[in-house]
Amino acid sequence: MTALDDLPPVGACVERLGLRAHKSLGQHFLFDLNLTRKIARAAGTGPGELVVEVGPGPGGLTRALLESGAKVIAVDKDTRFAPLLDEINTASDGALDVRYEDALRTNMATLGSHGQPLKIVSNLPYNVGTQLLINWLTAKPLFWTSLTLMFQREVAERIVAKPGSSAYGRLAVLTAAIADAHLLFDIPAAAFSPPPKVDSAVVHLTPKPENDRFADLDALEHVTRAAFGQRRKMLRASLKPCAKAVGLDTGRWLAEAEIAPTNRPEVLPPEAFFALARIWRKAKA
Ligand code: SAM
Repeated sequence: MTALDDLPPVGACVERLGLRAHKSLGQHFLFDLNLTRKIARAAGTGPGELVVEVGPGPGGLTRALLESGAKVIAVDKDTRFAPLLDEINTASDGALDVRYEDALRTNMATLGSHGQPLKIVSNLPYNVGTQLLINWLTAKPLFWTSLTLMFQREVAERIVAKPGSSAYGRLAVLTAAIADAHLLFDIPAAAFSPPPKVDSAVVHLTPKPENDRFADLDALEHVTRAAFGQRRKMLRASLKPCAKAVGLDTGRWLAEAEIAPTNRPEVLPPEAFFALARIWRKAKA
């Protein structure tokens, strides 16, 4: 039997099948196994662990995850890579299970048998990457122990952004409600085949302890949408419709949350939005 490290290089496998990347599926492949091993190491995957990978494509990252000893469930919309993924499965003694479906429709929480915790590691397709992250952050109960994800660098910056930066907004606040997020390293566009227009970066997220999470994400979404929807405006103006909808006085709401009414949203730490969301919920109840 061919072992994983006896398989031909990923690029040669793709060439053998004569496959071209599909732009509509956000396909930009990593052929360099040193890079995919670096991502697997950053995810800290190891023997006995269950990893979910969205978009294995020809399997460069999949191979690295399997080499670490983890079992991998991979989800891809594109069936053309099935012959390559079958070879990888055989070379890993059946440690790879591939589902050919839209990851946006996959119920990832049920992938681990008997609720086994899982890590998600992916070079995400750019067109659905942010939505997948939001789905994973808002999942109840949280079914993952870490997310190690590659995004376009600009999206990675929005995930880890701190108050005061232009990248800071709804995505950073939602992320901070649930997880600790770090930007790990960049991957230059030239490392991909075909190269995308922009560089990418890998981010790593781990859930906060349950008691430290802000659970009312629906209220948080209402408040941050109103505040960042008009980010140039002062909060006393941008939050007015949101306050009115639940019979709150904007001035009193901001005072109770100890926020200056002349502030703009980008200067507020996530905790200030949690406070606003708590008061908004109480008024709505
Ligand atoms: N992991 C491979 C690598 O690093 O070389 C491929 C990554 S490529 C950026 C994104 C992959 O996601 C492609 O294989 C594409 O077919 C797949 N994909 C795109 N949209 C998808 C969706 N909605 N559900 C599942 N897979 C999807």
